[in-house]
Amino acid sequence: MLGGQLLYEGKAKRVYVKDENTLLMEFKDVVTALDGVKVSQAPGKGVLNAALSAFFFRLLESRGVNTHFIGYDGGRVLTVRRLKMVPVEVIVRNYAYGSLIKRLPLYKPLSKLGKPIVEYHYKSDELHDPLILPEDILNTGLMSGEELNTVNEVSLRVNEVLSSELVRYGLTLVDFKLEFGRDANGRLLVADEISGDTIRVIDAEGRHLDKEVFRKGGSVEDLIIAYSTLARRLGINVGFRCT
Ligand code: 5GP
Repeated sequence: MLGGQLLYEGKAKRVYVKDENTLLMEFKDVVTALDGVKVSQAPGKGVLNAALSAFFFRLLESRGVNTHFIGYDGGRVLTVRRLKMVPVEVIVRNYAYGSLIKRLPLYKPLSKLGKPIVEYHYKSDELHDPLILPEDILNTGLMSGEELNTVNEVSLRVNEVLSSELVRYGLTLVDFKLEFGRDANGRLLVADEISGDTIRVIDAEGRHLDKEVFRKGGSVEDLIIAYSTLARRLGINVGFRCT
């Protein structure tokens, strides 16, 4: 339990108010799958996802992408800017996988897409985060046309930065999910987390170093090994070893 008022508790995180403009994002040792139906304790996962998120946010900031990241001192907590979140999940795909194949089985699993696909999903547990069209976003006022263009451009830029970085470590970025929020000036920043829970990454042997391990029926231990392996491959020291 951190100091400060608990603002929000989700499946994998708690968010506390640090001050008017700053939040603390605490990553829980819990893993869920199947829309929260499968829930398990996962000791070590919080630290791993906090460390992975800090690594990816620092990388993005170093390449000129504006994010909500402020700081990380180890442990399971990130300090981030307080934003008004846009209830849209942006998914960028480089290879066909997951819900893309479910939606359209014509795609061969893990076939490379001619160019990356950017998808928008309305963030709603009740509706299971349905795929929506850019027109839906504009018609309902979820984002303005200018904001939608920015989100599309920034998401593709994030894809370039993450893909090229992972390639340096012999890893392939299959797809990932981003969320955006507006600061007090209405500026859109990349927010939430970028971790083993929100990306799909495979090694040269096609092994998943992400949550897919658990979604496919693997154990919590398998999941922790996958996330630890990803962290180790990226040179992140989380202070414990399980690989
Ligand atoms: P898919 O739509 O194929 O299930 O997921 C595409 C990518 O977005 C995957 O990397 C997956 O981890 C991520 N993703 C999609 N929806 C969610 C979500 O509701 N929560 C989280 N944490 N990640 C998601």
